[in-house]
Amino acid sequence: MPRREVSVARSCDDVDSIHDERENLLYHEPRAITLPPGVTEDIYSNVRNSPPPGLVRAKTPQAISYSTYKRALASHVRILTNNDVSVFGDFAKYIEPGLDSAGRQVELDLTCHISHTSLDMYTRNSRPRGPNEAARTEPMAVLPCGHYFGFKGIDDWIRTRVKDEMPPDCPVCRFFLVYPQCGHEIKIRPYDARFQRDGQLPLTIPEGGTVPGYCLRCRVDWIRVMSQQLAYDIYPDDIPARAFINPHCCAQVEFESKRIKFQDKILDTALMAEADYSHW
Ligand SMILES: [Zn+2]
Ligand SMILES: [Zn+2]
Repeated sequence: MPRREVSVARSCDDVDSIHDERENLLYHEPRAITLPPGVTEDIYSNVRNSPPPGLVRAKTPQAISYSTYKRALASHVRILTNNDVSVFGDFAKYIEPGLDSAGRQVELDLTCHISHTSLDMYTRNSRPRGPNEAARTEPMAVLPCGHYFGFKGIDDWIRTRVKDEMPPDCPVCRFFLVYPQCGHEIKIRPYDARFQRDGQLPLTIPEGGTVPGYCLRCRVDWIRVMSQQLAYDIYPDDIPARAFINPHCCAQVEFESKRIKFQDKILDTALMAEADYSHW
């Protein structure tokens, strides 16, 4: 593309003419406007000050007034809604202390993304809910991807997917709710924040949690088969009686009980390892 020559002022008189020349270059050239499909020039000219239809412009954040800010600070309560938190990890840190880093009391006012029912979620410092209010809430369920729903809402969704012979998934991000290797369903349980998280809800993936390839049942089955194989390799069941060095303290019967103990030991070790770290 040939470069445009832009004149350089040599005297004060030249300045005005150069200014005009630049103005011409910038404003008086025919502008090529690409309109969105279905929008004609006259429609566009009526909405010159707003973006043409089909384009989405992000809203400018609204500043809150200083008095609102002061009131929020003075009330010492911070209410988190679905707009403030998108995944469980965003508010998990407030549940136990019930306070944010500024020392304000945190209350959760969350709803199910499917049924829009209020979720029965408390922090330690939440005000107690009245019986009428409590009747209109449902327990929360959290998926490995971190998205949270009402337990009934997500359970209905999963049952519908299974009935339609579709893999169950997260309605928000489409995370598959199955173990990738064995294909068994990841069971979703209600989470009650009044009790310890441990044993109720593993770490979600955004919090550093993992979904193993196989479900617990498949993992245990595999360990059982492998440990049996190993136990029979170490304690074979076809040793003739005369081959035992000390037949009075160790013969076939004792050998068999040692094999069973060995096998149980491997299984116990595997189950202890399962309980040592958080995973789905
Ligand atoms: Zn999700
Ligand atoms: Zn499985």
